Amino acid sequence: MADKRDYYEVLGVSRDATPEEIKKAYKKLAKQYHPDLNPDSKTAEEKFKEVSEAYSVLSDADARARYDQFGHNDPGGFGGGQGFGGFGGFGGGQSFGGFGDIFETFFGGGFSQQRDPNAPQRGNDMRLDISVTFEEAAKGVEKEVTVSRMETCTTCHGSGAKPGTNRETCSQCGGSGRIRVNQTTPFGQFQTVKTCPACNGSGTIIKEPCPDCHGSGRVRRQRKLQVSIPAGVDTGSRLRMQGEGESGANNGPRGDLFIYITVKPHKIFRRDGDHVYLEQQISFCQAALGCDIEVPTLDGNVKLSIPEGTQTGTTFRLRGRGFPKLRGYGRGDQHVKVKVVTPTRLSEEQKELLRKLDASCTAQHESEERKGFFGKIFKEK
Ligand SMILES: [Zn+2]
Ligand SMILES: [Zn+2]
Repeated sequence: MADKRDYYEVLGVSRDATPEEIKKAYKKLAKQYHPDLNPDSKTAEEKFKEVSEAYSVLSDADARARYDQFGHNDPGGFGGGQGFGGFGGFGGGQSFGGFGDIFETFFGGGFSQQRDPNAPQRGNDMRLDISVTFEEAAKGVEKEVTVSRMETCTTCHGSGAKPGTNRETCSQCGGSGRIRVNQTTPFGQFQTVKTCPACNGSGTIIKEPCPDCHGSGRVRRQRKLQVSIPAGVDTGSRLRMQGEGESGANNGPRGDLFIYITVKPHKIFRRDGDHVYLEQQISFCQAALGCDIEVPTLDGNVKLSIPEGTQTGTTFRLRGRGFPKLRGYGRGDQHVKVKVVTPTRLSEEQKELLRKLDASCTAQHESEERKGFFGKIFKEK
């Protein structure tokens, strides 16, 4: 801020210059450094900003009075107490109050950063949701899907003009896509550059539009696609099919198609990451005596040995029977939690057998307790 030039010096006027003199000096300098007349000149752009800033202060009686008193360090002035530093926003893409429009047109924010309307543009990405069964998620699956997307019109090859005709040069802008407009601003008359409204900046006009795309160069088409869903996908997995999205304007490249997977829940299996969970019922005799049972897995039935004396809620692990890892090698496990089922609707004979078993168990239990009791006493002695 210290090397900021004095505003009067910038405009080349004396400190007691009249508003008319200031305005006249500003107009002259603004024309001299106008970016339109000095394309690609950084110096001119800087000068123009400096001149504009000086004028914006000196042309305002209040601002000028404060400037005369405080110089560039106005304590209560513009920019929230930062003095005239608030004007630093010029040209940095920020606008300052009512000057926004004009400065955007002059510097970067407007025309120079605007993309060329004739340049090929990348097409939009698309989203497609696919739901697969639990088994399909485990094994992988090929699906045929239909997508409705914008494609380059084959009749006109994207030009938008009826075959045999051409796009014609816009008569309004002579093909440049820009027109010069005289604009009255607080600083006086300006010539600014705007996008040509007749051709939307493309510089060409379609006299006879293509009958298939009505001049847009693109048409909506239904396409069948083969989607290869890899083994191991889960709800929330996202697949990307490069170049299967929409075609871009002006024959631009296609966007991508993103496929969002939902895995339907299974009747008996539950999934957590790469692992599969199953609850398996066994009878209390099987639990007590031990047994070999068959349990369902993603690969079909598999033998599982239940050791004797298994309690309800015990979990067994079948290694490598879970989901394939989507990234990397190997598979998760299947966890089998056994639930011991108490028998119901027993026959008289079965009940009798159970009573005998119960009596036997009670006796055994008591003798064990006694043993434990005396064992304890003997140990303590
Ligand atoms: Zn067409
Ligand atoms: Zn035009």
